[in-house]
Amino acid sequence: MAELQDVCVLVVGKLHEHAVERLKERFKVISLPKADASALSHEDAQSVRAIAASGAVDAPFIDALPNLEIIANFGVGYDAVDASHAGTKGVMVTNTPDVLTEEVADTAIGLLINAARELPKAENYLRAGKWKSEGAYPLTRGSLRGRKVGIFGMGRIGLAIARRVEAFGLPISYYNRSRVEGVNYAYHGSLVELAGAVDTLISVAPGTPQTAKAVNAEVLQALGSEGIFVNIGRGSTVDEEALAQALKSGTIMAAGLDVFAHEPDVPEALLACENACLLPHVGSASQHTRKAMADLVAQNVISWFDKGEAVTPVSETRHVTSGG
Ligand code: NAP
Repeated sequence: MAELQDVCVLVVGKLHEHAVERLKERFKVISLPKADASALSHEDAQSVRAIAASGAVDAPFIDALPNLEIIANFGVGYDAVDASHAGTKGVMVTNTPDVLTEEVADTAIGLLINAARELPKAENYLRAGKWKSEGAYPLTRGSLRGRKVGIFGMGRIGLAIARRVEAFGLPISYYNRSRVEGVNYAYHGSLVELAGAVDTLISVAPGTPQTAKAVNAEVLQALGSEGIFVNIGRGSTVDEEALAQALKSGTIMAAGLDVFAHEPDVPEALLACENACLLPHVGSASQHTRKAMADLVAQNVISWFDKGEAVTPVSETRHVTSGG
């Protein structure tokens, strides 16, 4: 496909090297550390037909590229890309679903166990020599035994988490805007209702205007003093101030957080909470899974220019057709 060598793909942000290498085999690739139109020459802006993105792509940047056809986002969550705007401009947006589902579900379970059983704190205790000097680590107040688990966002990853939780012998319920067909888990029509029915809430909902700060003081109050909150979805879905307050005051017992509203900044109030297990957004961050995500980013761009079809279009741009 010699003519594909003339197609210009813009890499935005620090994209996985495997994706960049695969794209370079087929296309002319240029890169920018972030989506800043003033950093592109007029000629480059005219020539860009695809973006492979590991970072934000906003509406003004999309508007600055008159021949843009596709934005391939690295990650299943694409809240950093203005997909609605892309859709209205006839620009395809793709993400990386499925290939990361099991990895992220594994991480969610790790966070849950760490939050309940304080494993990182127990390890620190050992490393600090306290096992020898002070004796056994104190018994943990938290346990998974007898818990009732609620999942906010029973989608691909939510279902994979639920399968794991089932193996732990714990009952599961969930909140989505719509019921999921073919599962036996109890459905609740609102997040606060779900939180009131369980003592363990796992959030794996996407970051959207509708989910912004959905996990608020009222939801945490409903979760209760034995409550454990795990967030593996997006930080924007949580009122972090209310969460830090709930952890500090004992409104809930503990939290396990992989995501934050303004990464990599983590609020001081959360850092101060000893009853929170905090991870630097590592849900999908294994070499195995990140390579699979990189392949899917490259496959989306290649398929678009080879066959006129994206492999994994997001819902906002499913109507977009090649050349249309
Ligand atoms: P998915 O299959 O699209 O599932 C999302 C679920 O959220 C759906 O069940 C959806 O159900 C529900 N939902 C969406 N908007 C909602 C709303 N306003 N209120 C209530 N429920 C809502 O996506 P996925 O593949 O499972 O991924 C989920 C999210 O996980 C991603 O968007 C991403 O933000 C996050 N994630 C994080 C990491 C990490 O490293 N920590 C890695 C991968 C993904 P309804 O449409 O019926 O409401």
